[in-house]
Amino acid sequence: MAKEKIIQFGQLEAKYNFALNPFPKSRFSKCPVCEGKTGQRKVPLFIHVEPQYPVSLNYTNRYCPRCDLLIAHKHEIEHLLTDLFTKRNPSIIGNRYYIIGTVEKKAWREGVNNSISISDILSHVHDFKGHMEIHMSIGGWVHKDDTPPEMPPPPSTEWVK
Ligand SMILES: [Zn+2]
Repeated sequence: MAKEKIIQFGQLEAKYNFALNPFPKSRFSKCPVCEGKTGQRKVPLFIHVEPQYPVSLNYTNRYCPRCDLLIAHKHEIEHLLTDLFTKRNPSIIGNRYYIIGTVEKKAWREGVNNSISISDILSHVHDFKGHMEIHMSIGGWVHKDDTPPEMPPPPSTEWVK
């Protein structure tokens, strides 16, 4: 689990740890950190799509209350982004994107039918406290002195150029 802090975007205090799960078959009904049972938490995620397309997506994350960790499934996020940009601006599909934090529910509801400017929305954004990466090892027998090889996540299917 690598934890790193990126530069601050949102103007509200940081909230939640966050992990993007790149493995479609892993649902994380158990937390990858503490192995406790996870629940669900629906919050609008703030996503910056390059070069300059901020979006907020209301999304049902897995949530571990002990670790204060939200887990989003990459293939679901990319499906929602693809839907959104198919209508708005298809040339953006496949660009790099960063999931930066969460948007206050109230601001999200107000902004949902209007295009809200980036400076307006940033005053309602909580950056994540930390980002975690999910790694998966390949199952099977491994000699006790060896670390199991890492399983590469499958490539994106929809969010591609
Ligand atoms: Zn946990």
